[in-house]
Amino acid sequence: MNKLDSALVTGALKDAGFALTEKVKEADVVLINTCSVRRHAEDRVLSHLGHLKHIKETQPGLVVGVIGCMAQRLGAELLDHEAVNIVCGPAQIPQIPDLVIRALQGRTKLLSVTENIRQKCSDDQSSVLDTFETAHDSDKYHIPGQAFVRVMRGCNNFCSYCVVPYVRGQEVSRPPAPIIEQITRLAADGVKQITLLGQTINSYNYPAGDRTYRLADLLEMASEVEGVRWIRFITSYPVDFDEAILHAMADLPKVCPYLHIPAQSGSDRILKAMNRRYTAAEYLDLLAKARDIVDGIAIAGDFIVGFGGETDADFAATVELVKKAKYKNCFIFKYSPRPGTRADDKLADTVPAEVKKQRNIELLRVQNEISGRYNKCFLGQTLEVLAEGPSKKPHLDSAACAGQPQLIGRTATDYIVVFNGPKSLAGRFAKVKITKVSPLTLFGKL
Ligand code: SAM
Ligand code: SF4
Repeated sequence: MNKLDSALVTGALKDAGFALTEKVKEADVVLINTCSVRRHAEDRVLSHLGHLKHIKETQPGLVVGVIGCMAQRLGAELLDHEAVNIVCGPAQIPQIPDLVIRALQGRTKLLSVTENIRQKCSDDQSSVLDTFETAHDSDKYHIPGQAFVRVMRGCNNFCSYCVVPYVRGQEVSRPPAPIIEQITRLAADGVKQITLLGQTINSYNYPAGDRTYRLADLLEMASEVEGVRWIRFITSYPVDFDEAILHAMADLPKVCPYLHIPAQSGSDRILKAMNRRYTAAEYLDLLAKARDIVDGIAIAGDFIVGFGGETDADFAATVELVKKAKYKNCFIFKYSPRPGTRADDKLADTVPAEVKKQRNIELLRVQNEISGRYNKCFLGQTLEVLAEGPSKKPHLDSAACAGQPQLIGRTATDYIVVFNGPKSLAGRFAKVKITKVSPLTLFGKL
């Protein structure tokens, strides 16, 4: 979501005549797009702002804006920070070019956030956001050949630990017509892979006349767009998961057999305290159904370790779930209490930082062992990948490089593959023969 918002804001500012620089020293304006999901992310923003405050001592004209979820969460409090000129929430991003211009003209403090975040976004506001989205989604700011398309905003789930409903507001599904128009335009621009985005994307629901469009309908409509080769969707929520989605994945060749479906915990007691509305057994039944219907499906999960009240026995249940779920990979987070959430109001943060850390390491170890064992089955296989571009860190020994850079690509099932090839492959499909595997990465030859 934040990558998409950053791309949209970059596009809008370029259209307003600004140019992008990666160097703060060259910049007239610095915008920080923020995440509030864990405290660590917010702490990093505050440390950046401290640094920018120093820079402003020698560059007093520098305009600093904080945008996104932290802007919505802290609002005026953030505007009080000495370094900050603009505070702009996620629903106000279409105003950014105007806010930036006003700040450059000498209006030093500008605030634009949603006053009542629990109130449903008005039709007018939704249509402004829709127009902004379609006007500035140029693929130039994404990974080559790939684009994100938001199909929903907000979330109604109120998992007790989560800040998202308090900063992104109520769930709103976008109408299917502009979504498909957007995908058609992106495909005409050369985009090959579309990732549909929503916090609980399986609950996409758009009533129009005598029918209601659901995610399976969107997948079918997107599949008909010429030029699109792969379609992904993230993130799924394990309740109200319509079987039609699994059939769409099985029957539509363009829909990638990859499901990101967070479990968060394997303990029913903790799942209840998290307000997740399912049990570990129900979650595993859903995974079994998905594997039954979608041949070769790869599944990824999210877990929070050290949630308030989590005992050794609760954590053992999570380890058990991970062993049974046979994920491709897991994203594991240490519980971070978020102000204003129900868990923060009602539950003490009982698990010491050191225990959270150990549980994180242990769960990762269990998952890596499973992935490492499973990934061996790829040895010798030739896989199709969509190449993304040069790999950020070197993986193979230089002798294997043959004068070509190391590229990174992903399979339809979202496995990361590292191989040597020409940079010009970025944004194109390639076939790679797998020669080596690790728990997180496959390595091979073009
Ligand atoms: N909507 C998606 C869902 O429910 O699966 C994901 C939203 S959240 C931004 C991404 C992940 O962050 C969650 O799946 C959860 O594991 C983690 N997360 C959310 N709140 C957290 C918190 N307070 N502390 C630690 N991790 C958290
Ligand atoms: Fe947060 Fe839960 Fe909504 Fe995901 S489903 S965004 S974890 S409240």
